[in-house]
Amino acid sequence: MGLPQLPATEDESSALVSYNSWLLKHPSALDTFNQMMSIARGKKIVVCLDYDGTLSNIVDNPEQAVMTDKMRMALREVARHFPTAIISGRGREKVSDFVDLDNVYYAGSHGLDIAGPLRSPTYGDPKHQSRALDRKGNEVVLFQPAKKYLPAIEKIVRTLNEKTRSIQGVMIENNKFCVSVHFRHVRDEDFCTLEKLVNSVLQEYEEFRISIGKKVFEIRPDMEWDKGHALNYFIDTLGLGSSNDVLPLYIGDDRTDEDAFKAIRNRGEGFPTVVSSSPKDTAALYSLRNPLEVNKFLTNLVRWRKNSSSSKSFRQNFEGKTQKDWLLTTISCAEQSLGRNAILGL
Ligand SMILES: [Mg+2]
Repeated sequence: MGLPQLPATEDESSALVSYNSWLLKHPSALDTFNQMMSIARGKKIVVCLDYDGTLSNIVDNPEQAVMTDKMRMALREVARHFPTAIISGRGREKVSDFVDLDNVYYAGSHGLDIAGPLRSPTYGDPKHQSRALDRKGNEVVLFQPAKKYLPAIEKIVRTLNEKTRSIQGVMIENNKFCVSVHFRHVRDEDFCTLEKLVNSVLQEYEEFRISIGKKVFEIRPDMEWDKGHALNYFIDTLGLGSSNDVLPLYIGDDRTDEDAFKAIRNRGEGFPTVVSSSPKDTAALYSLRNPLEVNKFLTNLVRWRKNSSSSKSFRQNFEGKTQKDWLLTTISCAEQSLGRNAILGL
C-alpha cells in the first residue's frame, strides 16, 4: 500500500482543506456506508441514478460517454436486488443504449419520458400514459407529459443548428423532449455570442426554459415536471407510493439532479447523494467523488444486501427478476391496494 498523496502546491492544499470542510456537511457515502445501512434495515431501497458524470465519466464527445464493463456489472447486480431506474437528461433510448441492461428502468429528457412498470395512480396525468414495448420487448408504460411540445422542439433544434453553425465547437443534441447545447469545445471568446444566440432563439418560445449544466445549456418545456417528480413517479409505479418504509437512493452530479435530492428530502427519508470532487451548493446529504466511487458504493450496496438477513423477504421479491417479472410482482402488489381495473384501465 502506498503512502497517501500529499497536495503538491498551496492551491492544492487549500482546495483539500475546503473539500474536507464541505465533506463535514456532505459526508462520503463510502465512509458513512454502515451508518446509512443501519437506517436501511428492513426498509425497501429504491435506486435511481443519473447517467453522465455518475455512471460514466464526463467526456469530450457526449456521443462517446460509454459506461465501463465494471460499472455495467455493478449496476446489473444492483438491479437484481433493488428496483433500479436511470433518470437522465439524455433521450431515453440513447441512455438505454449506453446502459444496455434489461433489468433497469429508463427515464430520459430529465424525466419527461419515463418507461415504467405500471401506470402511476397518483403522479402525472393518466392521459400522458400509454402502454408500449421497449427495445428489448419488455412491456412498459410510457409517461410522456411533453408530447405537445415535440414540433416546437424540432423547430428549436433546426434553428439552433442553423444559427450556431458559424461558432466552432457547438454541439446540439436532440434529446426528444429537451435539447442540449454543448459548449465544451467552444472557445472562451465565442461563449458570449453563443449564449446570446441561444437566448435570442428561445425568446420566440415562451413555453420553454433554459438552465445551465456542465458545459451545456439545457432547453426544456417550462412545466412542473423534473427529475424529482420522475423519482416519485417511479416509486409510485412500483406499487410503493403509499408505503412508509421506502428509502429512495438517488445519485447524480449536475444541477438538474438537485430536484431529485430535494424530492427525497421532502419525503423525509432516503439517501440523496451528489457526485462531486469539489465543494458545491447542493441539497444532497451524502457525496461521492467520481464514478469510480459510485461503482464502489454500488458494489458495497449489493454486498450489504447479500449479507443482510433482515431484508430477506424484499430480496425474495426482487432478486433475479426481469422487468416482466417485476411487472407481475408490482401489478399484484398494487392490485392489493387499488384493484386491478384501476391499475390496468389505461
Ligand atoms: Mg450528470
